[in-house]
Amino acid sequence: MAVYKGPVKDISFVLNEVLDVASLAKLPGYEDATPDTIQAILEEAAKLCENVLFPLNRTGDEEGCHYENGVVRTPKGFKEAYDQFREGGWTAVTCDPEYGGQGLPATVGFALTEMFTASNQAFAMYPGLSHGAYEALSRHGSDALKKLYLPKLTDGTWSGTMCLTEPHCGTDLGMLRTRAEPQPDGSYSITGTKIFISAGEHDLTENILHLVLARPEGAPGGTRGISLFLVPKFLPKADGSVGERNGIRCGAIEHKMGIKANATCVMNLDGAKGWLVGELNKGMNAMFVMMNAARLGVGMQGLGIAEASRQSALAYAQDRLQGRSLTGPKNAAGPADPIIVHPDVRRMLLTQKSFTEAARALALWVGMLIDEAHRHPDAARREAADDLIQMLTPIIKAYFTDMGSECANLAVQTYGGHGFIRENGVEQLVRDARITQLYEGTNGIQALDLVGRKLPMKGGAAAQRLLGLMSGFVAEHKNDDKLKEFVEPLEKALGRVQDAAFFLLQNAMKNPDEAGAAATDLLRLMALTAMSYMWARIAIAAHKGLAAGTDNAFYEAKLATARFFTARVLPQTTSLNHQIKAGAATLMALPAEAF
Ligand SMILES: Cc1cc2nc3c(=O)[nH]c(=O)nc-3n(C[C@H](O)[C@H](O)[C@H](O)COP(=O)(O)OP(=O)(O)OC[C@H]3O[C@@H](n4cnc5c(N)ncnc54)[C@H](O)[C@@H]3O)c2cc1C
Repeated sequence: MAVYKGPVKDISFVLNEVLDVASLAKLPGYEDATPDTIQAILEEAAKLCENVLFPLNRTGDEEGCHYENGVVRTPKGFKEAYDQFREGGWTAVTCDPEYGGQGLPATVGFALTEMFTASNQAFAMYPGLSHGAYEALSRHGSDALKKLYLPKLTDGTWSGTMCLTEPHCGTDLGMLRTRAEPQPDGSYSITGTKIFISAGEHDLTENILHLVLARPEGAPGGTRGISLFLVPKFLPKADGSVGERNGIRCGAIEHKMGIKANATCVMNLDGAKGWLVGELNKGMNAMFVMMNAARLGVGMQGLGIAEASRQSALAYAQDRLQGRSLTGPKNAAGPADPIIVHPDVRRMLLTQKSFTEAARALALWVGMLIDEAHRHPDAARREAADDLIQMLTPIIKAYFTDMGSECANLAVQTYGGHGFIRENGVEQLVRDARITQLYEGTNGIQALDLVGRKLPMKGGAAAQRLLGLMSGFVAEHKNDDKLKEFVEPLEKALGRVQDAAFFLLQNAMKNPDEAGAAATDLLRLMALTAMSYMWARIAIAAHKGLAAGTDNAFYEAKLATARFFTARVLPQTTSLNHQIKAGAATLMALPAEAF
């Protein structure tokens, strides 16, 4: 059976010993976010995940959602779990106290998202999407919209969705056809069909707020004519209670590979009443707030799935007896050794472990940067933090989700044939993980975002900020004998990033296909380099822990895992650099009809 325990000790290690989480409480408005408070929240969340969400993960997958005449029922137990989640205040953790939220930092939200997703990805998506809607409304909504809707999203009585995709347009939203006609009362009448809308209809909340991209009459074609609208399932009355049914209905739900307990809906809008969010024709800007939050959220899904996979694979590898160790029996009294003695099984476990631990550090660092970008009194610090977030968002979305899938597959492989059997629970992780590489912009599109938008951003200054930070770290620690084994390979990886970026600079202007051809490999090259940077930071914390002399096994394990990553994963950066410099020619030579 699959297992899951909230990795509170590891999260706390990253927050307190690798990053300086205590510094959050010095930011204005976060005075209450002390390390002790955060620790207590993490421990409570872990209990909820272990006792409520994780037990529903497999039953939810087996049962799936039910659709009947426009009504969607979530699997047995989901409504009760959602009520418990909501009543426990988990929808309100990072929301603004002005709207009833607890006002805690984004960093805390990141740590919770990892655990919620690891224990039950399909469930976690319902409040996850609401949070994206909350962010977009709080950043771009009018005061009247905020006052009416944000308290409901905060207390979780109403939920949110994002409605972008249409049957003929997914990546290329410039083609979208949903229309918005202005009405005399200032609202819009919206008509069109959206597909693949996560949490579009369900029985968990009394109302659902859809954030819909549509084209107002007379607006230009392409993405420049798109606006964002808030379209509630039920029109609220002035006192905030639920009123008349609006003209947006679920026409069907998809039967799909994974996340079966999350309703993926076709939503038909037939003269639905909606209100503009943000400026007319600037809908993509407003939606990007939601999409960026969601991209990081999806990255955290990758990490959560990887961690759930790692824990199950480890438990199985310690228990399953097959064969003998190549260097002589390690369980002489038993009929065979546990499979964890075999180097190839260890390769799989360490691939998972070396990903999850540094990925968690990278993600929580980005969480802290978000808090700094929102709250730091110094504008220069806010801008610097934002540059790093912009650079790291596509990396976290794409690399974490690719690795989430890889780690889930490694869990199945560790279980052998038993991994393929449904009741053992790990094949579900493979199916659930797969969507994370596709939605919120496929991983190929994330790579194009990195190469086409983020690298050239501010004339390359944001990229330089990230690379400069890592180079500065190398310079600072290069001569530290204890860290050399991690810092020197990091320096070489950074050199490969620079080499690849220089190749693009020289070639992509002449031939834009060069950028497209390099994108996925460059994203992976930069991701591995960022992971190497995090492992070096973890190593510093581990050495400090060892010097303090308590819990030596914990800190030695960090160093051993850092060594595995540096010796057996980071070298991929060499081949990635070669692949990038092989250029576009071999990809583009074959005419489409000759494939
Ligand atoms: C379960 C599920 C839940 C979803 N939830 C939501 C939701 O809540 N809200 C919502 O609005 N949407 C949602 N989606 C839609 C999802 O975001 C899209 O499926 C995704 O963005 C890709 O669009 P597409 O499927 O049309 O693929 P396409 O855009 O047709 O892409 C097909 C392939 O071509 C590649 N490609 C396309 N254009 C380019 C290009 N310019 N350069 C290079 N490669 C390119 C893509 O990377 C991909 O590999 C969901 C989808 C699923 C399956």
